[in-house]
Amino acid sequence: MGWHKRQHTALDEPKNPTTLADMIHEGLSVFCWCNRCGHNSTIDPVPLATALGSLFPVPELGGRMRCSLCQARDIATRPAWPSHGGGQIARHI
Ligand SMILES: [Zn+2]
Repeated sequence: MGWHKRQHTALDEPKNPTTLADMIHEGLSVFCWCNRCGHNSTIDPVPLATALGSLFPVPELGGRMRCSLCQARDIATRPAWPSHGGGQIARHI
């Protein structure tokens, strides 16, 4: 008792996830990917920041979204980095 671990598996929960404010500051769009049908698009973070608050974490946006194609709520969101070299993005899950 009395000793608590400060470091709990930080892989899934980064301390400082990218927020909408970061996206706007960097001039990035939000990339959304439907895990069900593969539909994807980029959206402007400005209206999102207005609706959800500028400190809303980008990875949690997916929980607020619904696919416009298949209506699934299984949406992944991340910053739409402009130059990714065309490589594939490794997935952890
Ligand atoms: Zn979909």
